[in-house]
Amino acid sequence: MLDKLGDDFLVYAPVKKGRQRYYQPYRSLDKNITLGEVRPFEPMKAFFSRARETIARDFRPEMPEDGKKPFCIVGVKACDLKGFKVQDHVFRNHDYPDPFYLKARRDNLILSCDCTCAIDTCFCLALGIKPYPQEDYDLNLSPIAGGFILEIGSTKGQGVVDKFSALVSQAGDSLLKEKETLRSNMIKQVEKNIEENSIPDQTRYKQIIDKNYDASLWQDEAKTCVECGACNTICPTCHCFLLYDQKDEKNMDRLRIWDSCLIKDFARVAGGANPRKKLWMRLRNRFEKKFDYFPKVAGVYACTGCGRCISACPAKIDIRRILRKLVDLTV
Ligand code: SF4
Ligand code: SF4
Repeated sequence: MLDKLGDDFLVYAPVKKGRQRYYQPYRSLDKNITLGEVRPFEPMKAFFSRARETIARDFRPEMPEDGKKPFCIVGVKACDLKGFKVQDHVFRNHDYPDPFYLKARRDNLILSCDCTCAIDTCFCLALGIKPYPQEDYDLNLSPIAGGFILEIGSTKGQGVVDKFSALVSQAGDSLLKEKETLRSNMIKQVEKNIEENSIPDQTRYKQIIDKNYDASLWQDEAKTCVECGACNTICPTCHCFLLYDQKDEKNMDRLRIWDSCLIKDFARVAGGANPRKKLWMRLRNRFEKKFDYFPKVAGVYACTGCGRCISACPAKIDIRRILRKLVDLTV
């Protein structure tokens, strides 16, 4: 099926290298392709809002066409899909939707997959997210012995199943039961992680920012931050961007690149004024956005418990530790 999908899509699948999994262009079935296991190193958002994108050329109003096929992203995990709740709020669900994001949401195909193991940094369940996709996929794969249970999540997904009907058959009760057993085992693994790391449940996050806005915790935690911005770029919910113009011999391009709220110049305005001059203020702002602002404006925490920022941070700033401290300070 992946071979054939390549006719219409640029297919990307997770490939295991060392202890990590990375999205790579799919060329042929390779033993290192890992559909299950755990989320890849990079967030799926990179297929929907590119890290660097030309959004206008020579001041013309039409969207620049790159002539590329849409993406088919395989092996996407539930924590990445949950990131759509924030990305959609920012780029789609209002009067001025982003045309690039809309196009990607319309044309890209998502073949998600249940997690089949957890790593130390996984804490999706603390945010109320199950380790298997429940929405926002086109097709979902649940690995079972000798194959997959396929679930259809959209008309796009139905179209793929219709096209490849020779590869699928109706699953019987025993296979569905096997899927449920594997999912329950997976939940136990994440629960164990949460317990071992004493991660508080989301029901205890109420007012953790309001009540601790002036706590010394922010200054203590920011001491080791080196302003690399990795925690932002790796996060499936972070979405801030920067616009700039670039001229080459032929064109004047307007580009959009990912930005990072931890970096000093992020909030600097004309005249040099900066509302968040200190690094600890920017670290606090990141948590304020995730655990106060987004619950208020979009009804969701802007964190999916994927744990990527924990792995990526060279300063060992651990979101689980900060959440634990915030909850402890609030009670
Ligand atoms: S804040 Fe960290 S753990 Fe939460 S979604 Fe972003 S990268 Fe994942
Ligand atoms: S990844 Fe760590 S060091 Fe880099 S900006 Fe984020 S908190 Fe600071």
